[in-house]
Amino acid sequence: MTIAQQKVVTIHYKVTDVASGEVIDSSEGGAPMTYLHGAQNIIPGLEAALEGKQTGDEFEVTVAPEDAYGEYSDERIQKVPHAAFEGVESVEPGMAFTAQTEHGPVNLIVTEVDEAEVTVDANHPLSGKSLAFSVKVDSIRDASEEELAHGHVHGEGGHQH
Ligand code: ZN
Repeated sequence: MTIAQQKVVTIHYKVTDVASGEVIDSSEGGAPMTYLHGAQNIIPGLEAALEGKQTGDEFEVTVAPEDAYGEYSDERIQKVPHAAFEGVESVEPGMAFTAQTEHGPVNLIVTEVDEAEVTVDANHPLSGKSLAFSVKVDSIRDASEEELAHGHVHGEGGHQH
């Protein structure tokens, strides 16, 4: 079977930060990743590289930030009043929060705290990074009607609902 739209694909992978050489994530010793191809479940650069591959194929691909987690943007750094953290006992740099916005939930990291304000950064932790993927295609199957309707995989490696 060949990877195309509406296929459920399971891959083994290792992803490395090109600049530092640091391994960011790997399925080695753990569960492989399963995703629905063509449903934007994974970053665009990796999805494009997987198109047309077959079971057992192994390949490497380097993905630029714009096809991964986006460029780092200073506009995603904001200063907010302490009142925005009502109910949090002590706001410290490094804490992660999820903010509800009109565009849906956004993950924020606190980067700086002073008396007047808290600085939060909404950039993805991997934004601005080129990522090198080493991939082996483990299995490919057709997606079910339900999976296509939901836009994600069910069962093993997927949503349990
Ligand atoms: Zn579902």
